[in-house]
Amino acid sequence: MLKNVKLFIVCSICALLFGGKTAWAGTDQLPKADGNILTIAVAWKQTAAEYRALYHQGFNLATQKVKDALRNGKSGGKPLAVLTDLDDTLLLPLNYWGALIESGKDFFDDALWDSWIAKYEMIPSPGALEFLNYCKDNGVEIYYVTNRDQGEDTYNLALESLKRLGFPYADEDHLTVLIETSNKEDAQKSVAEKFDVVCCLGDSLNDFKRAYYVKDIDERIALMENDKALFGDKFIIFPNPTDGHWIRAVFGESEPPANDENRQKFKEAAMKNKSKP
Ligand SMILES: [Mg+2]
Repeated sequence: MLKNVKLFIVCSICALLFGGKTAWAGTDQLPKADGNILTIAVAWKQTAAEYRALYHQGFNLATQKVKDALRNGKSGGKPLAVLTDLDDTLLLPLNYWGALIESGKDFFDDALWDSWIAKYEMIPSPGALEFLNYCKDNGVEIYYVTNRDQGEDTYNLALESLKRLGFPYADEDHLTVLIETSNKEDAQKSVAEKFDVVCCLGDSLNDFKRAYYVKDIDERIALMENDKALFGDKFIIFPNPTDGHWIRAVFGESEPPANDENRQKFKEAAMKNKSKP
């Protein structure tokens, strides 16, 4: 009887520690803690003042860029505009990530994301509304370009999301939603034909230039390094440790399936640089 009680207690502790993923227990290749490889990244997004400070830093830089452009006057007679991504740049999906962790999932979940988007629980990133309204008050137009795919409702969901949060220029002239492709270049070019683009805002390199859309990790880093002078200048980048095209470089796709092979790939990515024992 006492033996059974002890066994029950041990099993209960294991279930708590591993969140039901008991297949991981006993292997030396798998993460410890609660067994969820996303936990640290999501905990940082949810709690770190540093995470929020990086948004203020980005929008402070962007505001300074706009002020300088306004002071210098229109170049080539074109009006000023700012190009921006939506998710994880202006909008933070913190409730989605919290729900994902609570449900025990350890990779991005498209079905959960699609149903969550329709709840309109995105919140503005710190400093976003102040920056966008500063632009609007000074006659600088905002062009929103996003990749999303929630089927035929995609566009309306994205537009409504901007409207509900009171974002300026939330209309069909200023919002481009790319469903079939993540290539933002055509949309960027069409804005640049009519406007002097002060800066681009994004959380993924692809938000700035399609040339960064490569799968090799080192090539991707090298391409960014070649353009290092542009960051904090024409390109204002925001932090995203949970998803984006850096994930594509690790797994070969942006939304890899949740399986042990991919969990191992994540572990190998974490050991890309390491001391010799
Ligand atoms: Mg984004």
